[in-house]
Amino acid sequence: MRLTNLFTKTTKNAPADEVSKNAQLLIRAGFIHKEMAGAYAYLPLGKIVLDKIVNIIRAEMNAVGGSEISLTALQQKDVWERSGRWDDDVIDVWFKLELAGGVQLGLAPTHEEPLTHLMKEYIHSYKDLPVYPYQFQIKFRNEPRAKSGLMRGREFWMKDLYSFSRTMAEHEAFYEKITASYLRIYEQLGLGSLTYKTFASGGSFAKFSHEFQTVSPVGEDKIYVHKAKNIAINEEVYNDEVLAELGIDRSELVAETAVEVGNIFTLGTRFSEPLQLTFTDEDGSVKPVIMGSYGIGPSRLMGVIAEHFSDDKGLVWPENVAPAKVYLVSIGSPESIAHADALYDELSAKGLEIIYDDRDERPGIKFADSELMGIPFRVTVSDRLLADAKYELTIRTSGETMILTRDQLLAKLS
Ligand code: ATP
Ligand code: MG
Repeated sequence: MRLTNLFTKTTKNAPADEVSKNAQLLIRAGFIHKEMAGAYAYLPLGKIVLDKIVNIIRAEMNAVGGSEISLTALQQKDVWERSGRWDDDVIDVWFKLELAGGVQLGLAPTHEEPLTHLMKEYIHSYKDLPVYPYQFQIKFRNEPRAKSGLMRGREFWMKDLYSFSRTMAEHEAFYEKITASYLRIYEQLGLGSLTYKTFASGGSFAKFSHEFQTVSPVGEDKIYVHKAKNIAINEEVYNDEVLAELGIDRSELVAETAVEVGNIFTLGTRFSEPLQLTFTDEDGSVKPVIMGSYGIGPSRLMGVIAEHFSDDKGLVWPENVAPAKVYLVSIGSPESIAHADALYDELSAKGLEIIYDDRDERPGIKFADSELMGIPFRVTVSDRLLADAKYELTIRTSGETMILTRDQLLAKLS
């Protein structure tokens, strides 16, 4: 990508009303645009980061047998009435709207009801189970506080997978499998060492649900971390009985604030009973399908990563989610620029993702933008370096700078 083709610009200041660090940095670097509190547009660089997060999640969901779908954001009232969740007292974050004829609709805050309803067309027999549809979808929630940038939006991206199983045992085996896949996702996003499988309240079909909580000073949740066991307990279920059940002593736990970046839930027949999603088992008996739901927040994750991996110069993306691996800077005479052009073409042909700063700007401005955007490697081509047939490579995480030959540079970047 050539910067002269990019319509976004970096800015020194974020909007005065933006108080969260993640949104301030992402707005200044040109990754997102603030439409209003809790609603952000993704600009080209931000869209690349979001897609990288999504693709890491997608690969893991496909690996556990998921089938990707895309449900509607517009929701029918009567489907939600069947589960008792249309009422604003039950779901207090509904956005509702009305058709010209007065028919009420909702904007989906989650998708258990419509998907359970839809699956009635496809699940009839035990032979139709298990199945694992999932989607990436914008959810709408009228959150009372939307001051944490991408971490709490009024519209936000969610990956939601739903499991439809024949028996509780089959459900539990899948639940364990997806727990492991969630941990692999956070690992790939660079958050592995900060993110804990956390015991949380479970509803009527399981003692616990499990959250995935990333330790962060800006988190809204309080958890008690057991480092050695690599698990945590949400304060909502933190009591002597639970500690005894998990075989944990109070003294082994450390209290932390954390952000919920995922949540998996045994739903049992909570939705299949009222919406009458049943199947005929091998012995001819008719049973409700056993369900689970598995949520993860790609936009919240992008906020958490931006917030955590940053310094006084700007963003510091982990390589797996950076919008590009290399930020190429050309400085000086037409010869240097022609040399940088050729290097850009050559590295691009090798499949390296590059942001090429081909603007007619001072070196200091280019360097500052490469740091604000948080690109892992910066390569500089200048007259002085070319005179010795050398290139300058700067590492964003450490600030370390090296003068390298062409072969050394190619080896470092490959
Ligand atoms: P919270 O407790 O933080 O309000 P939740 O328990 O309501 O979240 P779920 O309904 O389980 O969240 O949603 C699944 C995932 O979607 C969450 O784990 C989180 O990563 C993400 N998420 C939920 N609400 C938001 C939001 N308002 N903005 C961005 N991401 C969100
Ligand atoms: Mg929660």
